[in-house]
Amino acid sequence: MKQNYIITELNGNRWLSIPILDKIDFIRHSFIIKQKNSAVEANGALKETAARILNLEKWQVETINQTHSDAVFVHNEECRASESDEGFDAHITNNSGIAIGVVTADCVPVLLIDRKKRIVAAVHSGWRGTAKRILQKTVKKMSDSFGSKPEDMIAGIGPSIGQCCYEVDEKVIEPMKREFDYLNRFSIQKKENKWHIDLQMINREQLIETGLKPTNINIVSLCTFCYPDLFYSYRRDGAGTGRMMAVVMIK
Ligand SMILES: [Zn+2]
Repeated sequence: MKQNYIITELNGNRWLSIPILDKIDFIRHSFIIKQKNSAVEANGALKETAARILNLEKWQVETINQTHSDAVFVHNEECRASESDEGFDAHITNNSGIAIGVVTADCVPVLLIDRKKRIVAAVHSGWRGTAKRILQKTVKKMSDSFGSKPEDMIAGIGPSIGQCCYEVDEKVIEPMKREFDYLNRFSIQKKENKWHIDLQMINREQLIETGLKPTNINIVSLCTFCYPDLFYSYRRDGAGTGRMMAVVMIK
């Protein structure tokens, strides 16, 4: 398969991008990965890195208080998600000049772009968010709030822990099984009470169910656990690991 991503290193910053998304002329996007010479990235430092890469001021980069929920925040002129104490795991905007980001270290980051209505969204989908269908809820919110149609949307699914390394037990597999009748296509039982699941593909399936065209869904099939030089991984490095940020903006 042809490689569908590029990694850029410039002025000490390093990020991954999807060329198909770069062709959409009214947006900019970036999956900020592990920086070469830096210690662990915290949220504030990541915002600075995002601002440098996108040539913005730090205040123009918006994050959300992520809690593995299925809550979706819609930005408008007065309201900033970062000023809210509530938990959200996806946000949507039609404002230009504000970059919206989600922070991950193994969980699945997803960027959505409605090419017709010019709306963008950033989604954090770990196993809990996946089981709660946060991605589908974000697509629905884009439709309800802005009249977006799934067939006009392009998705970029960023690096996350791969099926190779994402071993889960009953606690994860049972709610997933109940939710997705296609789960067996994306899970392999390795031993008693141990399964390996493919979170990226389950999220892809959710997008297809919602009406996105499969050809408009771009998955970067890199496992965060397998490439310690490129990515942080919660599973590999523990709770103290750094974070990465998937970010999208309307120019
Ligand atoms: Zn792996």
